[in-house]
Order: sequence, then C-alpha cells, then structure tokens
Amino acid sequence: MKKHFTILGLIVALFISCKTTQQQNIVPITFLHLNDVYEIAPLEGGKAGGMARVATVRKELLTENPNTLTVLAGDFLNPSLIATFKYEGKSIKGRQMVEAMNATGIDWVGLGNHEFDLDEADLQKRIDESTFGWLASNAWHKVGEKLVPFAKQTRGQEEPFPSSKIFTFSNAAGKTVKMGMFSIVLPSNPKAYVHYDDFFATAQKTYKELQSQCDFVVAITHINKADDAKLAQLLPDLKLIMGGHDHDNMLQKVGNTVIAKADANAKTVYIHRLAYNTQTKALQINSELRKINEQIADEPAVATVVQKWEEILDAAMKKLGLDKNDVIADLKTPLDGRESMIRNSHTNLGDLIAQAMTAAATKPVDCTIFNSGSVRIDDQVAGKITQLDVMRILPFGGKIVEATMTGELLAKVLATGLANKGNGGFLQWDKVALQGNTWLIDGKALETTQTYRVMMPLFLIEGKETNFGYLTAQNPAVKSVEIPDDKNTNDLRNDIRKALIAFMKKG
Ligand SMILES: [Zn+2]
Repeated sequence: MKKHFTILGLIVALFISCKTTQQQNIVPITFLHLNDVYEIAPLEGGKAGGMARVATVRKELLTENPNTLTVLAGDFLNPSLIATFKYEGKSIKGRQMVEAMNATGIDWVGLGNHEFDLDEADLQKRIDESTFGWLASNAWHKVGEKLVPFAKQTRGQEEPFPSSKIFTFSNAAGKTVKMGMFSIVLPSNPKAYVHYDDFFATAQKTYKELQSQCDFVVAITHINKADDAKLAQLLPDLKLIMGGHDHDNMLQKVGNTVIAKADANAKTVYIHRLAYNTQTKALQINSELRKINEQIADEPAVATVVQKWEEILDAAMKKLGLDKNDVIADLKTPLDGRESMIRNSHTNLGDLIAQAMTAAATKPVDCTIFNSGSVRIDDQVAGKITQLDVMRILPFGGKIVEATMTGELLAKVLATGLANKGNGGFLQWDKVALQGNTWLIDGKALETTQTYRVMMPLFLIEGKETNFGYLTAQNPAVKSVEIPDDKNTNDLRNDIRKALIAFMKKG
C-alpha cells in the first residue's frame, strides 16, 4: 500500500515539475483592444461605454499581466458632438478624445478614415498632444511633392510614425518572445495631404519584413470586414487582426488567423490573451468580449478628464437653449445613423428627421429632402433618447428653409440625390417615392411644369453639397426661398435639432 503511495507521489511530482517547466516556457501577452471610439462619457443613459471604465479594465489587466498593450484600431478624432464646439477660443476637434486617451493609457493606435476628417493643421495638433504611439504602414503625409511619415512634432523634436514595430516581451523565468505589429487603413477619405499605399500590398510587404525578425506577427486594421478576411487569406500565418471601422462586435477565424472587432464607442472591448510557448513556438489566443457597463468602476484620473469636458459640453448646449439630459423618447427599435446605411439607403432615422422637418413647416409642403451627410453619429441609437443624442445625430444644426421650385428642377435634385449614393449628398426624404422611373410627390406623379414647395436645409440650397452646386436661390427654376427669422426663437426651422426634438417629444 505504502509503495503505491510513493509511486503515485512520484508521478504527481513529475507531473507538477513538467507543468512548471511548461509554464516557464510560456510568455503571456495581453491586448486590450478598442476601435471606433468617439465619445469619452458613457452612452445610453450611462449604461454603455465610458473611457474611465476602460481605464479600470486596463489597470486590472496590467495587474494580471505586465505584458499588456492597450490599442485603439482607428477612428477617434471625429465625429463627436463636443468636437464641433470651441474651447479656449479654439475648435475642440478631437482634443477631448486625445486627453481622455492619454489619461487612459492607450499605448498604440492605428489610423482610421475619420482621423483625416480633420484638416492638416488640426490633425497635427492632436498628434502633438498625444502621449501614445501611432502605427501607420500605408498612410503617408503628402508635403508638397514629397511623401513622408506623419510625425509627432514636440519641442522641435520630430518623431515619425513607425510603419511597423517589434515588441520584445519576457516572462518571470526570463524567456522572451518577439512580436511584430503593423497597421493599415482603407483609403476612403482622400485628402490633399494624405497618400495611401495599397493596403494589401503594404500588409504583404511589411509582414514579410517582420516575419524574418519576429516569432509572430499581429495587425491593427481599419478596413471592411470582408477585406480583413481577404487579408487573413493572403497572410495565413498572421496570428491576430485587431480591427476597426465596422461598428458591431465580431470574432471569426479565417484559416489560423483570429479576426476581432469590438462595438463602437467602447460599448465593448476585446481582451486578447496570448500565450506563446518559447519551446514549441506555438501561440494560443483566447479572445474575450467584455461589456463596458455600470458594473465597472470609473478610474478617477480619467473620470476627472471626462467630467471637465462634460461641463464644457453642458455649457455650450445651454447657450443654444438645449438641455443635455432631457429624455425625449424611449425607443425599442434602434434608429440607424450608421454612415454605411444612411448614405446608401433610406433608414428609419432619415425618415424621422425628414418627417420632423415637414412638421416644422409654416405652410403645408409638397415634400421634404435633406442630405444624409448632416447625420454624423455613425452609430445606432436606442433606449432613452436625450437632447444630447439629437445633438450627436445632427452636430451641425442649421436652419431649415421652404423653397418653391419647378418640377423640372425638383426631378433633377432628386436624381442627383440618388446618384450621390455612398456620400453625404445622398438624400433622405419625406413624401417622396420612386415608382419605376416615376417620381411620386406626396403620392402623385411629379409634373415638370408644376411648382413645388420643398422643405430642405439651408445648407442644401446654398449649393454646398456634393454635386448640388446648381441648387441655389439664384437658379431661375427656384421661385422663392423662405428663411426663418433668427429673432423668432419659437420658430423650429431655426435649428433642425429643435425641430427633431419637438417632433420626437410629440411621439
Ligand atoms: Zn472607419
């Protein structure tokens, strides 16, 4: 009997020591992965998101594993409501986000298309304010004829964005692993100061360079999910793609590559726990989607930054006669303001805004149109909707006008709207339908010789929208334009947001 115990003991001891040796060969690496974050404070009435909560999660992960990197896979400088206001006499334009990201302890970001919404000078300011690293493999700064890396410029020092990065991690036993990382962005936002290399070609080239120097390679991407899958097929040994641009969480495996994206605005984050075995060279990845909600306490330093900007926002809204926290509706069905939807199709949010405009008319109108580009939330909204949410949906505000025009011009305008599919000049409407090739205005076939009363944003009839240069008060086919009087604060047409708030309150 005793002998049995001894043998068993020996087996257990051997097993434990084996396990310990195995453990000594494992180098753990953790990624806290966010993407598409525009709001620093929690949304949905405080239920979802919030950078102060993200910072708490980061601290917990660092305690669990000092080899923790926090990355944001693009789209953070725009759009956001607060960015449209001024502070200390200067446009805010993403400054609130950079401050919150600095305080959170973001380590690395990839570029998203929305970073290039900023003009060159504002983007440079945000870059210079940031304390995190920017990885840019295929986007270059166009300076005159030259292509150079974007760079942080602080105190006369220039710190160019690396096009790839090698990290060395070690474990308690002193075993080390080298990880390569690169970052690509889609060229959907062409600007005179940006040059994009083909992102697939760049990924292949950069991967090849990194592979020869590293144990494994991961990527930060800001491309469509179908392209992420293609990338995984092109680079079957790429271990992990931490993606952005799509706003809904996803996790999939294409071959051996893990592709993940979290929900926009930090409603969720991905936590990727990697375990690299230095002996077998095997890499295990465990990806956990973590909800960022009320159960996570605020990290105090980030909470202070968020509070500061909330107060600035509050004051700016009060100045406009708006109350940020006023609940105006409780919605079961989400309103769809995602750019991929509202710039390509007629969504329930587009319908709602157009109907609200119709309701604000002083005399009955034949139809209402507006440019989908005035909707900037690039997200869905549901639950308790506040005046703040309306501001997030329509950050630019602006007047609504009643214009009379010939049917011929109206038909041209509607056709331009359709041709603008994919951009902000795609029109949303009320009392308009297309039946085969016939436009129906308020249920009746459009007559080119008739005159129509059309409700639209002032912006649209100033000829400022894509391909609408001809649509101005000076166009002979425009018979009249009625602009609301600034002094009449009860006239909802003075601010499209007030028209929407009033309409939603009525239910
Ligand atoms: Zn994007």
